[in-house]
Amino acid sequence: MFKIKSEVQFDMAHYLSGYKGKCSNIHGHRYKLIVMLKSETLIAEGQLRGMVDDFTNFKDALKEIADIFDHKLIIEDNEEGRALAKKLEELPNDFDIYFVNYRPTAEEMSKDIFNRLKINGLQVCQVELFETPNNSCIYTED
Ligand SMILES: [Zn+2]
Repeated sequence: MFKIKSEVQFDMAHYLSGYKGKCSNIHGHRYKLIVMLKSETLIAEGQLRGMVDDFTNFKDALKEIADIFDHKLIIEDNEEGRALAKKLEELPNDFDIYFVNYRPTAEEMSKDIFNRLKINGLQVCQVELFETPNNSCIYTED
């Protein structure tokens, strides 16, 4: 079994609806995303001979993921989330809000990122998303 991994980082703010405590505020993190691809065999011919995947393709795919979330405010697409977004949009700042259909925790985001990469044809086997230097979520399909 061959496994290759690559890393990208992005800055993102999120709002956790229905949360009481320190994290009930809109707040941000420097996220670190580490993705692992796996393959039983290496590509047998052509430009990518001897590889699981081209690191350039792999890095481009991670950059696309990072660009979705980077410097955005991520809000769950529910009644509370839409009400918050409406209030923010009344302010003069140009808020860049990105709605997701889940509570934007590291767990839900890892699963979302895993599925986006899989749909794009990558042989993804593991996504690890660090929300802080010490806390991360690992998502696999095992
Ligand atoms: Zn947070």
